[in-house]
Amino acid sequence: MMNLAMQPINQIHAEDSAEQPAEKLETPLQAPAEQRPLPRAERNRPPFFNSFFSVLWIAMLVATLFTAWTPNSLFASNLQEQLRLILTPQPDSNPAATPQPQLRIGIVAGHSGNDSGAVCMDQNGKTTLTEADVNLKIATMVKDSLVAQGFQVDLLNEFDTRLSGYRAVALVSIHNDSCDYVNDQATGFKVASSMDTRDINRAQRLTACLTDRYQSATGLTFHAGSITEDMRDYHAFSEIDPNTITAIIETGFLNLDQKMLTQKTDLVAKGVVNGILCFVKNESVLPTGLPTILP
Ligand SMILES: [Zn+2]
Repeated sequence: MMNLAMQPINQIHAEDSAEQPAEKLETPLQAPAEQRPLPRAERNRPPFFNSFFSVLWIAMLVATLFTAWTPNSLFASNLQEQLRLILTPQPDSNPAATPQPQLRIGIVAGHSGNDSGAVCMDQNGKTTLTEADVNLKIATMVKDSLVAQGFQVDLLNEFDTRLSGYRAVALVSIHNDSCDYVNDQATGFKVASSMDTRDINRAQRLTACLTDRYQSATGLTFHAGSITEDMRDYHAFSEIDPNTITAIIETGFLNLDQKMLTQKTDLVAKGVVNGILCFVKNESVLPTGLPTILP
């Protein structure tokens, strides 16, 4: 390519000098006609015929130069530049390339900023674990995971002032159940959605997504029997914007499920995240027929 680029410059100079033709080639034409005898072939030519030939020769030379020279330099570079502009996303001229606004998701760390929730104590009455701490750890991991996946996430306190009229594609409150040993069946998780929502179908979908994905991630079973009125009438349900789909999940019992909640928190968070993603991304989920919305 270099050689081709350099060649035309020399040829352009040759073209310029063609205006005063090189002596070796053009001496017979350059010399006044009356001073030299023209070759027989030229004797009968009218005077303009020689200059006509010069112009024709120059024209042919220029034409040759253009075909040899322009594709590699002038037009080609313009074409390449234009192609580059077309193929490179232009922020102003290509609205399709504009990033979509982030979807907002709210995560309530149950009891945070208010109280401890359930309190686990050892035999000496010393606090070993609080529900609020477990909730906050899970909620923080859920938030981080969703943020890493491009969502705008609000980590909210139990009675966060932002809950009033809160608008998001989903709001999930994370809680856990008692530290006390109840019985051997007091294990597993619960999900309940708002009874105040304007879109009961979508609320049930969020519940189904959370249930299915949480069960898959943790292996914990759904513990429908202990869903309380406190869950169904969760205070945040009536504070938020009625268009916001919301659910509360109790991710386990702090007694029998404590090991899962404190040592495999990543799985717990993953279950919640996958449930939210299932809802937000409209993934297929089997209807659970859960009694969470029933009176
Ligand atoms: Zn709680």
